[in-house]
Amino acid sequence: MAPLDWIDAELAGLRQRDLLRELPAPFDLQTTTIEVAGRPLINFASNDYLGLAADPRLAAAAAEACHATGVGRGASPLVCGRSTIHAELERRLAEFEHAEAALLFPSGFAANAGIVPALADRGDAIFADAKNHASLIDGCRLSRAETHIYRHNDAAHLAELLATHAPQARRSLIATDTLFSMDGDVAPLVEIAALARRYDAMLLLDEAHATGVFGPHGRGLAEAASIEPDGAIRIGTMSKALGVAGGFVVGPQALVDYLANRARSYVFSTAQPASTAAAAIVALDVVVAEPQRRTQLLATAADLRERLQAAGWRTGDSASQIIPIEVGPAAEAVALSRRLRDAGFWVPAIRPPSVPPGESLLRLSLTANHTPAMIGALLAALGANHQDAKA
Ligand code: PMP
Repeated sequence: MAPLDWIDAELAGLRQRDLLRELPAPFDLQTTTIEVAGRPLINFASNDYLGLAADPRLAAAAAEACHATGVGRGASPLVCGRSTIHAELERRLAEFEHAEAALLFPSGFAANAGIVPALADRGDAIFADAKNHASLIDGCRLSRAETHIYRHNDAAHLAELLATHAPQARRSLIATDTLFSMDGDVAPLVEIAALARRYDAMLLLDEAHATGVFGPHGRGLAEAASIEPDGAIRIGTMSKALGVAGGFVVGPQALVDYLANRARSYVFSTAQPASTAAAAIVALDVVVAEPQRRTQLLATAADLRERLQAAGWRTGDSASQIIPIEVGPAAEAVALSRRLRDAGFWVPAIRPPSVPPGESLLRLSLTANHTPAMIGALLAALGANHQDAKA
């Protein structure tokens, strides 16, 4: 047997359990209508929530920066990779987020995976929501701290775990997504922030899906919950509502200085291209100047949730632009996704390991560019759900 033969068996096992993922045909332009195998499909899969990924204003800024500063950065930020444009984006992010300082990372994943181990080490305790994003989970694994998982969005369980474990720990860190990426539900941030204060714990909030969408100024759910800007370390990504790429953290200057020394994904990774940073600066301008994008998005989402529920579909605790259609078995989720594809809609089935076994779903992701006609057509294609009536 050759050393890599075991991989064939792994793949066969995944296929047998309906869990094998295959790369779909490449997608080019990121707009609401995408072309798959020569056929136009309405895209309900993208996290381009404000419809900025293909905005010509962002593209023009990226092209200009590319010509002025080159395509690649050549090194990590501490060596020679950080340009004036990166510095300007950090300043703009700090200003937008009402924080003292900001630090850029190559991606949101890299931010989480690097920041958690920089904040918590042996002798410390991390308290993490059971449905946190994979990058926070990996950050916890990379840290040598003891990680205590609390039941999803269950502040009472978090309180119990803190009472038991925080007193013995050198330092404590609570880490949670603010808007959960698969279920579209929201963490009880007011309760969690109060617990962090009571136990003197650091609070790390991953605003990946909420930045640009929630809060009176689009800063995210911490803003919506009126959490003091310095009451939490906030991580975001520019890959979703901002339509570009790259992660960031905002907080006090000392925190940023420390992370620039200690977050390994910052220190040991090449800086993002300046073209990306230039586009993100324009995206921030748009978030500030065009608040109607987020208000319209959230209104469309509320309307779609209501109509799905009226048709008998279960949308869980979604309270956002991410709306799951809860199906259950992976094979059924795949079948429904195929049926929608045949009807002209791209809605991916989400299966383990992205969700627990038996909790497969279709994840609808709305953007500001979805029109009422597109939403109506999707509802017509889905029809009523008779499955539950049968059960
Ligand atoms: N956090 C959450 C909650 C996410 O959903 C994601 C992306 N799926 C990330 C972090 C990672 O962000 P990025 O895509 O910029 O790496």
